[in-house]
Amino acid sequence: MTADQQLAFRTISSTNPRSDSERDAIHGNPGFGKYFTDHMVAIDWTNDLGWHNAEVRPYGPLLLDPAASVLHYAQEIFEGLKAYRHPDGSIWTFRPEANALRMQRSAHRLALPALPSEIFIESIRQLVRADAAWVPGAPETSLYLRPFMISNENFLGVRAAHQAAYYVIASPVGPYFAKGVAPVSIWVSTDYARAAVGGTGAAKCGGNYAASLLPQQQAYEHDCSQVLFLDPQHGKYLEELGGMNIVMVHRDGTVITPELSGSILEGVTRLSILQLARDRGHPVQERKVSFDELRDGMVSGEIAEVFACGTAAVIAPIAALKGRDFVVGDPAAPAGKLTMSLRQELTDIQHGRRPDRHGWMMRLV
Ligand SMILES: *Cc1c(COP(=O)(O)O)cnc(C)c1O
Repeated sequence: MTADQQLAFRTISSTNPRSDSERDAIHGNPGFGKYFTDHMVAIDWTNDLGWHNAEVRPYGPLLLDPAASVLHYAQEIFEGLKAYRHPDGSIWTFRPEANALRMQRSAHRLALPALPSEIFIESIRQLVRADAAWVPGAPETSLYLRPFMISNENFLGVRAAHQAAYYVIASPVGPYFAKGVAPVSIWVSTDYARAAVGGTGAAKCGGNYAASLLPQQQAYEHDCSQVLFLDPQHGKYLEELGGMNIVMVHRDGTVITPELSGSILEGVTRLSILQLARDRGHPVQERKVSFDELRDGMVSGEIAEVFACGTAAVIAPIAALKGRDFVVGDPAAPAGKLTMSLRQELTDIQHGRRPDRHGWMMRLV
């Protein structure tokens, strides 16, 4: 299939969509990833036919054969991006080409078929058009979009599947921090790594998340909300959180983040935040950062701010790090100034309150 191939979408409208009042009630308290819209996108793929059968259809369960390969060998990838309602009522998304390209890279690593960017973006446009009423309008709310791809060939032999399917579902989400942006404490895992050298760390695949759940439980047991993983080879350098990248601000204004190591997921939020920092004249360093440098810097004050970033929370300030034999930082410390101001700038762009000088926004409706 050529890169610019387009598919015609068939639409089968839901015969029992939620009522306006049900939807309003959900918008009033959406949580995160709890409620889903009336429709979904599904596209089939086979070795012989390529991508075909593109449709918007009523949201509902998938029918999978118990031998479907994804259930056994975890050939699965996903994406995450948001649709935002702007003050004039129009609906936009943020850098969808970056998600489309990342999904192609993830597909390559997981031996799944590449979905052309045009089809990825059209799938999102189709779903958001069908469920436009689901895009909330209150401050800091959005419609979270979850594209994903699975192998669904009914075959237990171990090889790349000859049949796959791509779906998009959508979930209205409220402000990530209901009571204002709250700094978090992070558990530094020295027992486990999330990804291996040469493994799938740079791919957005469910398997990486499965590997992060046990350390995540340990984090909860230590009153931490997320895990910081160190490099899988030496256990020495910072990698990232289970689902967010990590960024530090030096006292002199330099913004520092671990360089992409092959086992770090390249976040679109990370990329965008680094650009906004550069635009303001902050030196930006992408390099190896040892855990010792972070810990000592937090103690001495050389490292003035630490935050995590990703689509869901945008930016989460990190106040403290805990591990088996140490605590650094103060869990009650307020969020850093640059942290909060970058967060404000990025969310202003996304929600249409500030000019989009980099051309990051794409109108959907
Ligand atoms: C999705 C993800 C991120 C953040 O990526 P964004 O594009 O900024 O949302 C970071 N780390 C991991 C492991 C992820 O899966």
